Amino acid sequence: MSRPYVIDQMISAKEIAARIEALSKEIRKTFPAGERLVVVGLLRGSFIFIADLVRELQDREVEVDFLEASSYGNAMESSREVRILKDLRGEIGGRNVLVVEDIVDTGYTLSHVVALLKSREPKQLKTIALLDKPSRREVDFRADWIGFEIPDEFVVGYGIDYAQSNRNLPYIGKVRFTD
Ligand code: 5GP
Ligand code: MG
Ligand code: MG
Repeated sequence: MSRPYVIDQMISAKEIAARIEALSKEIRKTFPAGERLVVVGLLRGSFIFIADLVRELQDREVEVDFLEASSYGNAMESSREVRILKDLRGEIGGRNVLVVEDIVDTGYTLSHVVALLKSREPKQLKTIALLDKPSRREVDFRADWIGFEIPDEFVVGYGIDYAQSNRNLPYIGKVRFTD
């Protein structure tokens, strides 16, 4: 089941921090300063990204909520079937919402989640993903903001796992099997 592998760094912690600072400026321009922003993290892969992102928005009134959608299991391929495992705690009708995802791959997860949340009629809903693999897309979906476009590699770190390990790495790395 578990093949031997090493992790090659792809994006450093410093590069991630600089990109998040730049993205937060874009986010600030889009959402009105005087209104509360509901930042929705998709569990579990976005937990570090959302933590860094909301601290770049410390001058804003921010509410944090989480949603868990599953399309993956422990496999490295998308099942293309999205299930909501944990829904939001709060209401988003009439509110400003930013959905935060780790990676857009086939696009199934985020397009499903966006359709679901838009049916609740938020005032404004935008999406941000730390990583984007455009070459893997199977449904027509674009996040409003992307941290980094990456090639078709399986990545880990900065919240993102391989078989529930490696989420605690401060950088993004690619998994290289050594067998
Ligand atoms: P999509 O529904 O767009 O195919 O899948 C998105 C989800 O697949 C991401 O949120 C992430 O959980 C998972 N995923 C896609 N690419 C990778 C990857 O390179 N590494 C890991 N660990 N998960 C990935
Ligand atoms: Mg995910
Ligand atoms: Mg995962």
